[in-house]
Amino acid sequence: MPYSGPHLLDHDVINRVVTNKKSPGTYYIGRIDKDKGFVYVKIGRDDVSANTRLHSYVNNDEYKRWTYFKFCYWATPREAFEEESRVFHKGPGPKNEYHPARPDSTDYPCPVSDDCFDS
Ligand SMILES: [Zn+2]
Repeated sequence: MPYSGPHLLDHDVINRVVTNKKSPGTYYIGRIDKDKGFVYVKIGRDDVSANTRLHSYVNNDEYKRWTYFKFCYWATPREAFEEESRVFHKGPGPKNEYHPARPDSTDYPCPVSDDCFDS
């Protein structure tokens, strides 16, 4: 599924472009490098509302230098989890310390490796 962006990480912009506030989604938080273009520091997801989650990065001290985002809706939390896991294994950002957690109350396997969860 194609990502939308990069967009400025700003409350108004989030509401203008992430119009479905009740959709799971994955997102990249990043910045625009003048040589490399969009570079990301983190892949993340929200199983309920990508819109809501993205707002938490605005004016967030930990992400001060990271002022752009890309996002993609997914039909189900499972699809969002699988996307986040694939990106995590392929190219985690510097702030992706841990493997993505499963959606609440599920035991979905990681789509990449059987070794990611104990059960
Ligand atoms: Zn995994």
